[in-house]
Amino acid sequence: MNTLKSFAIEADKNDPLAHYKDQFYFPQHEGKNAIYFCGNSLGLQPKKAASYIEAELESWKSIAVGGYFGGKNPWLYYPDQCKPALAAMIGAKEDEVTVMNALTVNLHLMMLSFYKPTAVRFKIMMEAGAFPSDQYAIETLVKHFGLNPTDAIIEIAPKEGEKTLHTSDILDAIEAAGDSLAMVMFGGINYYTGQFFDLSAITEKAHAVGAIAGFDLAHVVGNIPLQLHDWKVDFAVWCSYKYLNAGPGAVGGAFVHEMHSGNINTPRLAGWWGNEEKERFKMEKGFIPKANANGWNLSTSQVFNTTALNASLSLYNEIGIEALRNKSMLLTSYLEYLLCQLTNISFEIITPTNPSERGAQLSLYFNTNGKAIHNKLIESGVIVDYREPGVIRVAPAPFYCSFEDVYRFYEIIKNNF
Ligand SMILES: *Cc1c(COP(=O)(O)O)cnc(C)c1O
Repeated sequence: MNTLKSFAIEADKNDPLAHYKDQFYFPQHEGKNAIYFCGNSLGLQPKKAASYIEAELESWKSIAVGGYFGGKNPWLYYPDQCKPALAAMIGAKEDEVTVMNALTVNLHLMMLSFYKPTAVRFKIMMEAGAFPSDQYAIETLVKHFGLNPTDAIIEIAPKEGEKTLHTSDILDAIEAAGDSLAMVMFGGINYYTGQFFDLSAITEKAHAVGAIAGFDLAHVVGNIPLQLHDWKVDFAVWCSYKYLNAGPGAVGGAFVHEMHSGNINTPRLAGWWGNEEKERFKMEKGFIPKANANGWNLSTSQVFNTTALNASLSLYNEIGIEALRNKSMLLTSYLEYLLCQLTNISFEIITPTNPSERGAQLSLYFNTNGKAIHNKLIESGVIVDYREPGVIRVAPAPFYCSFEDVYRFYEIIKNNF
């Protein structure tokens, strides 16, 4: 790597995925495509999304209620179309995956299935500084069971003077909590630092002390390939509007390991859509869950929230998550390299330098002038976000970001400060 623009141009020429940029719409800046590094917040619109939505509008228009069983994609099974691509991405069996509701709703549903506090075992462990919705979900869950959040929630914070966690600290904390620990519920990637946790090691340790391991994969799915089945993760949830490019308010997803989803006696809150299908339309008393992750479905499938996800997943199917991850690692390392050459500003990359401990995102921490740099980037047509206190998050999503985009980002900071 070097700091010449020609390096970026050459890297784009050699990038087998470069042409996927044309599959997305970009916000416009002074008549040109903006550079978009916010795919960790809201992914771009796949150009295909409109035709997927129009197909279902057409079914609704032309066959109305007949669309549940007829039409091109019968709505009764519409969400199931997402399963093969999602299962491949997260290393799951299709029966372990479902799409429904939205992320925080699914987090509540899963925690209500798996959190069974007793007088001895009632604690939930999470990372300090987790995404607020996750904090609120866990706080209100323990209160719902009549517990005091200060007693029931263990937050793991980085060591004094550090910004991220060591896996060994997490594992030691689990060990120390021992049989008081009911559940570990971590964000797979912390949204603020960009740190990717060792889900396999955390799960193994949680199980060793008799606790459940669940993860919020909002920043992981579509970003880093996983092996949730083999790692024996109990449950996971995610949203589809970040790296999965399914649009604002898109349907969320959930993984329930087959040791639980295959067991119809696993506790859950139910609705008719999770009922055994042969029995569903008999409209009888007595809930009989489907013996798979769809057994957590409550309501009629949300077709229009799922259309753009299907469109986006069709692109993932063409490429495969491994190839995307390979490009992503190069792109993020290139960004890191260029940032490290900057001598005109003072900042710290708080995301781990080890590529296996991060996804696409780098979080840059500024003691001062972070907001000014953020403003300058936005003015220059580079869309990144700013999170208090003092962090610019830069996520070159490999689907639609190029090496030249990353170079441009570097150039703006280099020439303006
Ligand atoms: C994006 C994100 C959310 C948002 O939850 P919604 O229910 O989709 O609004 C929650 N948790 C984490 C960790 C996130 O990154």
